[in-house]
Amino acid sequence: MITSTSPQRPDDIVARVQASTPEDVRVAAETARKAQFEWVDAGAAGRAKALGQAAEAVQGAAAELAALAVREVGKPLAEARGEIARSVSILRYYAQQPFEEIGATSNPSGGGLLFTTRRPRGLAGLITPWNFPFAIPLWKAAPALAYGNAVLLKPAEPATACALRLSELLAPCLPAGLFTVVAGGADTGRAVLDEADVVSFTGSTAVGATIIAAAAQRGAPVQAEMGGQNPAIVLPDADVEATAASIAAAIAGYAGQKCTATKRVIVVGEAARFTEALVEAVRALVVGDPAREDVTVGPVIDQAARDRVLAAAASVEAAGGRLLTGGSKVGELGWFVAPTLADGLADEHLLEREEVFGPICSISRVADLDQAISRANAVQHGLVAGLHTRDITGVLDAVNRLDAGMIKVNAPTTGVDFYLPFGGVKASSYGTKEQGKAAVDIYTSLHTVTIEAG
Ligand code: NAD
Repeated sequence: MITSTSPQRPDDIVARVQASTPEDVRVAAETARKAQFEWVDAGAAGRAKALGQAAEAVQGAAAELAALAVREVGKPLAEARGEIARSVSILRYYAQQPFEEIGATSNPSGGGLLFTTRRPRGLAGLITPWNFPFAIPLWKAAPALAYGNAVLLKPAEPATACALRLSELLAPCLPAGLFTVVAGGADTGRAVLDEADVVSFTGSTAVGATIIAAAAQRGAPVQAEMGGQNPAIVLPDADVEATAASIAAAIAGYAGQKCTATKRVIVVGEAARFTEALVEAVRALVVGDPAREDVTVGPVIDQAARDRVLAAAASVEAAGGRLLTGGSKVGELGWFVAPTLADGLADEHLLEREEVFGPICSISRVADLDQAISRANAVQHGLVAGLHTRDITGVLDAVNRLDAGMIKVNAPTTGVDFYLPFGGVKASSYGTKEQGKAAVDIYTSLHTVTIEAG
């Protein structure tokens, strides 16, 4: 049995459903494979129409879905509305993709024709986290469907109600059984891995490593988007107040529970004024009930997550660092924790090395951009890196040397555009990128055809 509860009111049970067994997953996979024939037969126009209808269905339920994301995963209302708007855009964008050209042609010597074409992989197994309960399932499912695949979606347990509601909305737009949510935990996820022809995972680095190994063992193509330990570098010429406000929101917006959240701030040169501005900006963020319009920082997902943030904060002073703000829980009801900034930590401290999935960040200072880039790169992850400066030479230098799949200049590490590739390097990502046109690479196989005159 899976129980999902509201992080702001843990006595509020949002979903309580039976977990899908391996046999349930096998049956769902069989049905999906049959539905896929019908889906391929629908052609580009049929698939585009259905995905367009799915976009309208999600748009029509936007207010209800945003409220559900607030309730089930504690996402602040403004961000939840943004996520639903983005989900609609993702569906509309991929509704156009079936019409895109899918190959290249060439003339071999002696006439004839040489060309490439693509085919759907078959059944896509999608395993997703809870933090973007609509956008992540859709940024995988929409391209998988657009390119002609069937889908089994295994959502994270804390986002079960969101995923089930999404499948209800999409069902009338698609052939029966083509897109099925199989709720459950790791066992259900493993059963999906046993059935899928292609696997797309988003979640923690540790779980991702097991998914990659399991898929590789079966020879199934796999992509995995995992954790981040994202740095934001601040050069001396950056606008102090604007940069502090932007970074504060990237640290603690949605309680820091984004793979793209800023986890390390690296200040170049004299840092006192910027540090003070950052502390002030972090303290100015409104913590509280995520259903309120003015709240930026809601609760973390569960008690264990809150305990991890509190333990990391509690270790700062013993490690010779300083807590500049935060470090304590907020209120008695719900998993709220104050946005927390630590200063003066050694390289080997947890907050410098590992992703602690909550509103907590470490700040450090270095002498020049070279040192800042070395420090930024000195972790296993490489998802996003931020740079704040007006110096174009520094920007060009950093763009070529930062170990990150996404580099953001004078912009928060959080927030990405669905129509360009998304993903990291090093331990943050495995396989081809997600989103934009890059998604075609995971959800289709590429074939080269030679036709000579007979
Ligand atoms: P998680 O790794 O605990 O779970 C992710 C999914 O994997 C869930 O559906 C879970 O049930 C499933 N799972 C767990 N063990 C499994 C197993 N052995 N076999 C098959 N499936 C299994 O992650 P989470 O707590 O849901 O999400 C938070 C993490 O996700 C953070 O590390 C965050 O950085 C990462 N994340 C990454 C991105 C990205 O695009 N890089 C985006 C959002 C979140």
